[in-house]
Amino acid sequence: MYALGEEKLREYIKSINLYRNKAKYVIALSKILIDKYNGEVPGTREELESLPGVGRKSASVVLNVAFGKPEMPVDTHLLRICPRIGLSASTTPLGVEKDLLKIIPKEYLMNAHHWLILHGRYVCTAHNPKCETCCISDICAKNL
Ligand code: SF4
Repeated sequence: MYALGEEKLREYIKSINLYRNKAKYVIALSKILIDKYNGEVPGTREELESLPGVGRKSASVVLNVAFGKPEMPVDTHLLRICPRIGLSASTTPLGVEKDLLKIIPKEYLMNAHHWLILHGRYVCTAHNPKCETCCISDICAKNL
């Protein structure tokens, strides 16, 4: 990635939001991974969050997907739907994360955020949620 360089990387990722900043961060963090971590992605939250452009959510995604840890990254979908469904009363990513970690059974924690993201993206959408066909409409706070 580092050899590719910022300009060429931008071409590959230009369809995503904020691609210019993201390209800058990826190149900067790639250099740090080479120089400081021998080309390996570190496996602790502290190390991950010290990398350019990596905040709590990105670190949680890496810890969950790459290192198999039961983390709960809270993105815009989770932040929006969890209060609506009744899974959290918080309005902050950290608050929602803490609430979800408390109530989601351990055996589901590895995949729960993927399911919630997909639910928010395709069913419980910001406008016109598909409540009539939603598989949890009988237990959703919106309908209670
Ligand atoms: S019933 Fe409606 S508001 Fe509740 S989770 Fe389903 S789509 Fe979202």
